[in-house]
Amino acid sequence: GQVAFITGGGSGIGFRIAEIFMRHGCRTVIASRNLQRVTEASKKLVAATGQQCLPLSIDVRQPQTIAAAVDEALKEFQRIDILINGAAGNFLCPASALSFNAFKTVIDIDTVGTFNTSKVLFEKYFRDHGGVIVNITATLSYRGQALQVHAGAAKAAIDAMTRHLAVEWGPNNIRVNSLAPGPITGTEGFRRLGGKFAEKSDLFSVIPLQRAGNKTEIAHSTLYLASPLSSYVTGTTLVVDGGSWLTSPNSFSALLDVWAAGANQ
Ligand code: NAP
Repeated sequence: GQVAFITGGGSGIGFRIAEIFMRHGCRTVIASRNLQRVTEASKKLVAATGQQCLPLSIDVRQPQTIAAAVDEALKEFQRIDILINGAAGNFLCPASALSFNAFKTVIDIDTVGTFNTSKVLFEKYFRDHGGVIVNITATLSYRGQALQVHAGAAKAAIDAMTRHLAVEWGPNNIRVNSLAPGPITGTEGFRRLGGKFAEKSDLFSVIPLQRAGNKTEIAHSTLYLASPLSSYVTGTTLVVDGGSWLTSPNSFSALLDVWAAGANQ
């Protein structure tokens, strides 16, 4: 009976989160830039789950588009209980080849976009009704992952934001947590970050659980953070990566080869 507003819900991990939430009786709003993509995704989700799903177009870099979407969602459902900040952009690129604009764009979508969406939801609904926010981040910054200065810095800032907002918004009965996935098969992120290459060269055998993760595993962990099962959990980051960041290689020269081979094209 709850309502979840999921940015980036039209594809990849965000889509699977929407599906799993709907299978657990949640109605969803899936929002991203490409209205056709979210509209088609919403038809599939409704057909698969029998729950309601409202597709909306937003650019998380533009607060007014988020405000309009939240107004529309509240008009449709009269409530929003959960915000999943999943919208992001990423690609492999060494810092030396990264343009100033490329770095800024990733920070704008991931970090600023997460702040914009959280603040709009806070002002329009969560401040008075409470709520749950789950920010989808990454483990990239934990060891300074090569070719990922842009996304690593952006996601680390979101993990910091998670703690700041948990402190400030806890009294409003708002829980704020991050979920940091490892390599997840069947996603755009996996393809762009050289997942096929890793698969071929058996790089997954160095992960403690000996494999990449899947989208359903991320969705189930997100469900935990969004549900009353985690009612006393706030300001934390749940890493869901099979132990990957502890043991996976972080070789600048090897990743440069992946980049040069065009795995990020
Ligand atoms: P994805 O399918 O490319 O998802 C990204 C989504 O963000 C897309 O639906 C995209 O839709 C939306 N988006 C991008 N820019 C936007 C903007 N300015 N405004 C609104 N929406 C925007 O990628 P994914 O691999 O499933 O990743 C989902 C999340 O998991 C991301 O936060 C990613 O960083 C994180 N993650 C993924 C992995 C992995 O292995 N895949 C690992 C660690 C973390 P539009 O193009 O329609 O806007």
